[in-house]
Amino acid sequence: MRQTLFNLSGADAADARLEKDISEKNFFGFPIPPIIAAEEKLLNPQNRSVAYLSMEFGLAPSVYNPFSSASPTNNINRIKKHEIFSNLKDMDYYHSFEFEELLDLPIYSGGLGVLAGDALKSSADLNLSVAGVGILWNKGYFKQNFWFKYGQVPEEANWDPKTYPGLIPLDKYIKINLGNFEAKIKLWKYYVYSYDKRFVVPLVLMDSNLKENPKEVRSLTDQLYRSDNQLIKIAQRTLLGIGAVKALDCLGYKIDLYHLNEGHAALAYIELYKKYASKEEASKHIAYTCHTPVEAGHDRFHKNDLAKVLNKEDLQKILSTTAVEGDVINLTKLAMDTTSFINAVAQKHGEITRLQFPKFKERIKTITNGVHTFTWISDPIAKVLDKYRKTIGDWQKDPENLKQVAELQASQHFKYDLWKAHQENKKNLCKILKYWLLEESVFTLCWARRIASYKRPSLILHDLKKLIEIAKTIGPIQIILAGKAHPADNLSSTHIKEMLNKIDELTTYRDQIKVIFLENYDTYIAKLLVSSVDLWLNNPLPPFEASGTSGMKAILNGVPQLTTLDGWVVEAKDWGIGRIFGYTPPPGQIGNEQDQKLEEDSSALYKNLSDITALYYKTLYEKEYFYKSEWLQMMVNSIAAAGYFNTNRMISEYNKNAWGLTSSSSPANPN
Ligand SMILES: *Cc1c(COP(=O)(O)O)cnc(C)c1O
Repeated sequence: MRQTLFNLSGADAADARLEKDISEKNFFGFPIPPIIAAEEKLLNPQNRSVAYLSMEFGLAPSVYNPFSSASPTNNINRIKKHEIFSNLKDMDYYHSFEFEELLDLPIYSGGLGVLAGDALKSSADLNLSVAGVGILWNKGYFKQNFWFKYGQVPEEANWDPKTYPGLIPLDKYIKINLGNFEAKIKLWKYYVYSYDKRFVVPLVLMDSNLKENPKEVRSLTDQLYRSDNQLIKIAQRTLLGIGAVKALDCLGYKIDLYHLNEGHAALAYIELYKKYASKEEASKHIAYTCHTPVEAGHDRFHKNDLAKVLNKEDLQKILSTTAVEGDVINLTKLAMDTTSFINAVAQKHGEITRLQFPKFKERIKTITNGVHTFTWISDPIAKVLDKYRKTIGDWQKDPENLKQVAELQASQHFKYDLWKAHQENKKNLCKILKYWLLEESVFTLCWARRIASYKRPSLILHDLKKLIEIAKTIGPIQIILAGKAHPADNLSSTHIKEMLNKIDELTTYRDQIKVIFLENYDTYIAKLLVSSVDLWLNNPLPPFEASGTSGMKAILNGVPQLTTLDGWVVEAKDWGIGRIFGYTPPPGQIGNEQDQKLEEDSSALYKNLSDITALYYKTLYEKEYFYKSEWLQMMVNSIAAAGYFNTNRMISEYNKNAWGLTSSSSPANPN
């Protein structure tokens, strides 16, 4: 059987470490039959299969379905240290908070990758014949350091793929042409199991870090989104697009549809054109999801640069599409022009995308993003939901059943249990941050996401006087912040510097306000925060947040929102999941990212914060008010809304509208 697996998956039988972790029954502590079944389906030409191509995948094994291994993993895959910058700085010098946890597979940077990971997990939960394809980033994204008075200092991240549990090197290689050079690419595989371990989806990862390749080629798969060089960016997109098609062929997978998660993978069209012999035929086999309404988010490359990586014939294939804008090629347009299915990631994002790309407007559909329920739900909350299964139904089998939580609005028992579960999560967070004197009875809110201008990371710190006033007159506040700025994004790095300065200014007010800024935001910290703070703050400048997903993770754990009206929130606004504030652009306008509306929107933010802080403390301290409190209602509504904003629903929509795979909940019979 083990031999079968090696044959099916192409695992490198010469790798002695695998001998210990792969047996007839076991794959790194997980059952092996689901792997055999999934591989057989992907190899079977009679079976319809989909490939999901993405530059990044955030699988979060530190918080979900971790593999075990008989061999120890390299320490650099384990120890994680998070420095803190706070307004209790005497503490910061002595303590960082440390976890001895498995480092998350560091092949993602933020929301796009987490969505791709969640998409694969839900595909496995639904037993769909899907294979993911991405890149093995040998140096991850980057390690973040804060320097007071300076901002963010990025540092190279290191990890060891060879000893990472569940990641298997294959004895399979592909070749791709980059300029005049033929690069050799090694394939790896990682299996993404369903929540109940009955099904899997394989993720194939491509790696150019081989001795046979010259230095420049080896470093192609070093760092995700390294952006100082156009040729490297083009070569990476060539690897992702063209390489993915070759990698799937190399493994013998019979793929019917290639789903491009963002335009990074658009060059797959070149290879698929060769396979299907015409643009029309190739397009039938490609689907595409667009993830950004921000101009800089659309990849554009100069023809002359493309000509240095692609050969004449290949370049010609894309020059004859409508992706050409003068001397540059727009990969978003390339993807739109060469696919049979296009979707935006929230209703509002659909409207904006149709305005930005009027030529394709009839074809741009919308499938709203979600999060993977089982990855993001905390244990205490899951236990409460299990206790009320009679009303809620089997929410594991179908997370959409969480909508039934709305029926429990009248149940004092449920509200009591929900509150207690939340307090348990919050207590855990306070324990982890004990040196910073966090208190369980103090109102705690969090802003944690990628630091990008349109997300307005420092809005809450915009007017410190007003913030201090709220904390003094209404009640103390604990604020937790986290997020990485893209290393080449100077403006975002400036935001970090500004935030550090503002936090420092609050030093003398630390009895009323504690602000904690965590370094190295990752999926482990994300799960900790979304489940244990009282309020999730989301204040992007509309309409630039395509969807946003961290708020969905928070509502799943009963954590209400204080948010602007953008992305997914537009669809959630009538669910009663928190407070909505701030500017909204007139319909039919794309918006202006330069005009940040900081004055108006921070005022609106403080007004709402003041009300909601008062509501929180009234709920906490007035016993006779507790069960009537709008706070508890918002918590209940939040979980009910999570019945919609999950990837189980999202993937079901992808499947219904674009993929056309059969989904069966019983294990596939390999014969
Ligand atoms: C969920 C998640 C994100 C995405 O958050 P947004 O709300 O979409 O900005 C980014 N980074 C990490 C680590 C996450 O877990």
